[in-house]
Amino acid sequence: MTGAGPIPVRTTIFEAMSAKAVAAGAINLGQGFPDAAGPASVRAEAARLMLEGPHQYPRMRGTDALRTALSAFYADTQGPAFDPGTDIVVTSGATEALAAAILALLSPGDGAIVIEPAYDAYAPLVRRAGGLPQFVRLSPPGWRISRELLEAAITPATRLLLVNDPVNPTGRMLDDGERAAIRDVALAHDLLIVADEVWEEVRPGSRPHVSLAADPALAGRVVKIGSAGKIFQVTGWKVGWALAHAPLAARIAATHQYLTFTTPPALQDAVAFGLNDERGWLPVMRAEVEAGRARLADGLTAAGYAVLPSEATWFLSIDLAASGLALTDVDFCTRIVDQHGVAGIPVSAFFETAGAPANVVRFCHAKAPGTIAAALDRLAAARKALG
Ligand code: PMP
Repeated sequence: MTGAGPIPVRTTIFEAMSAKAVAAGAINLGQGFPDAAGPASVRAEAARLMLEGPHQYPRMRGTDALRTALSAFYADTQGPAFDPGTDIVVTSGATEALAAAILALLSPGDGAIVIEPAYDAYAPLVRRAGGLPQFVRLSPPGWRISRELLEAAITPATRLLLVNDPVNPTGRMLDDGERAAIRDVALAHDLLIVADEVWEEVRPGSRPHVSLAADPALAGRVVKIGSAGKIFQVTGWKVGWALAHAPLAARIAATHQYLTFTTPPALQDAVAFGLNDERGWLPVMRAEVEAGRARLADGLTAAGYAVLPSEATWFLSIDLAASGLALTDVDFCTRIVDQHGVAGIPVSAFFETAGAPANVVRFCHAKAPGTIAAALDRLAAARKALG
């Protein structure tokens, strides 16, 4: 399905699998949320602010404290300079930032490049804006973006490139060659870029995140999207943001004001506190996430699963065919949740185009060691039963 139209009436695969996991009493390695909950000091600050206030509508673009903290955090960690007064819009999660950006920047009939596997909100939001998703399909195990693949999808109607880095679901970080391909194509075709960088902090300490917003050649073209849910492991808080040069940010703010208008100010200021005063927690978090990734990857390999490379995010994937399992990803996920008590996500859910790979399953590894150990026991039994 490619034409413009309403958002389909169906529940997302994440919600559906979590519901199945609850019903079956399964260990939920499906939906992406960690067992841990952010730094205690940030949660304590949120609790204090919930008692003492602020409680009323904050500024439409976000509290002064959070916009100032975001500007300093990104200047220090990634380079780009965002003016807190004109370049930042705080939103209710990255999901709202995506919605506000896509609705603001696309007009009916405009094309938007959606790179598959794609985060599930992109194509429905493009259609809701009256736009046309133009799919670029990547292939496992490398899942690399190339200039040729992008060029093949671009038409005179294309206005926007939606880029996710690090990538959910594959756990990849884009390399210099992929960023160069994106830059060249954006400049050659005069495109805007929505850079969904919510996973920017969830990667090895040795591999800094390189933001498309830090590329001087792309100045004025990039909307950078982030989320406190991923940085501070508080996915339910839904504090996100869009950052862009002033004219783009103004269009996004104008859209945001009619979507949610604002986001709880106590949570915004608690996130500001975290960005200013708890940066020392980030390396600790990264080391824990890396340990969880290694624990799940090693255990799955020992159980006879072929694990695909993954460097970032809370996710890793297995290749069923390479594991000697002749099941589709949907069948495998249904069997393991119903019969073996573990929920995963079929990666085919991140594709709309025909002929997408149906042999890759995503697991969330941001779980306590005991949770991973219990899931591995069950998945080892599943491997024997299904092989
Ligand atoms: N983009 C990507 C790539 C994501 O993985 C997620 C969350 N899973 C989001 C956006 C949404 O983030 P939020 O929860 O802040 O709305």
